[in-house]
Amino acid sequence: MTSSPDVIVIGAGVLGLCTAAELAERGHAVTVIDPGGPNASSVAAGMLAPALESLLEDLTPEQAGLLRRARDLWPAFAEANGLALHREGAEWRGPEAAAAASRLGDLGFEARVTSTGLFTSDDWRIDPAPSLAALARAPGVSLVKGRVARLAGDARRWRVEAEDGRTWFAPTLVLATGAAAAIAGLPRSVAVMVDAIQPIRGQLTHVAVEGPGRVLRAPGVYAAPAPGGVVIGATMELGRRDLDPDPEEAEARVAAGLALLGVEGEAGSTRVGIRGAVADGLPLAGASGQPGLFLALAPRRNGWLLGPMVARIVADGIEGGAPMADAAALDPLRFG
Ligand SMILES: Cc1cc2nc3c(=O)[nH]c(=O)nc-3n(C[C@H](O)[C@H](O)[C@H](O)COP(=O)(O)OP(=O)(O)OC[C@H]3O[C@@H](n4cnc5c(N)ncnc54)[C@H](O)[C@@H]3O)c2cc1C
Repeated sequence: MTSSPDVIVIGAGVLGLCTAAELAERGHAVTVIDPGGPNASSVAAGMLAPALESLLEDLTPEQAGLLRRARDLWPAFAEANGLALHREGAEWRGPEAAAAASRLGDLGFEARVTSTGLFTSDDWRIDPAPSLAALARAPGVSLVKGRVARLAGDARRWRVEAEDGRTWFAPTLVLATGAAAAIAGLPRSVAVMVDAIQPIRGQLTHVAVEGPGRVLRAPGVYAAPAPGGVVIGATMELGRRDLDPDPEEAEARVAAGLALLGVEGEAGSTRVGIRGAVADGLPLAGASGQPGLFLALAPRRNGWLLGPMVARIVADGIEGGAPMADAAALDPLRFG
């Protein structure tokens, strides 16, 4: 046994680390266990985009409202954790901009038609890699390197065993393992939920060009500011979890992205991440139905946007506090 935290979080993606930081700020001692290396969260573009996601995914007013409320948690969360929040807005350069702006207005977002499309001030952005690093350094969070191989729980506590035999115990466990398969020893009802998560492969490519300093989106492509240039993405490949970049796809999308930016440039590294999703596209956040076991999983293509909301719902559940209104929509047991 190496330590006795109050809470063990398995997985150091955006959901695991946001939840760990939220719990630590509330006074819990949190250990996060992760093997390290890239994950979907580090690969992501970091858009916090309730407006254009609602437009592109044709969301209902209720769904759009949930994304906007998730976005609204970001300023306080970023400030509490020392994360840089970029509130420069985003542009949509697609057909029928006037109709799109009107649709966004109906959904409660600010949008104005421009000479090239539309601009909304409602979509923001963070830089994934430095934000993950800052969350992992949050006071009260201790990140240990390891892959959890086996779990065992009784009425009092969870036993968490890494591949190399190290073992931890805690009364409360948060499963934030992304699109990974169920860990051995999970109660069957939870293993079934985890294994029902569908992988959605995504790849994007870094290009060292000067961009406009905000996200540009168009049908089938976006270019988002990133350290040293932009990232151009991204694919949505349902059912795939292979991690090798597809150079032909990257070349075509980079060409579309550069055309969108109106510049020339050489493609840099292509990165692949696997998003996890369930049927309604919303995360599984909160109590699992098993004592002391909570889920922070499956945020589909909006894990960064939804991170602070998932963290708050899971932390409220652990503390037994009154759930926020949006908790019901993310309840892991909502499918019955
Ligand atoms: C190309 C791309 C672009 C994207 N762009 C955006 C965007 O602009 N905005 C946005 O909001 N979202 C975006 N997303 C989606 C977002 O990245 C995901 O929704 C989010 O990262 C998922 O976070 P997670 O914490 O659930 O999973 P992950 O980031 O995958 O983290 C899970 C972690 O669990 C660890 N783990 C798994 N099994 C074990 C185990 N047994 N023991 C220990 N650790 C384990 C893994 O190693 C991993 O580190 C994008 C995704 C992709 C792929």
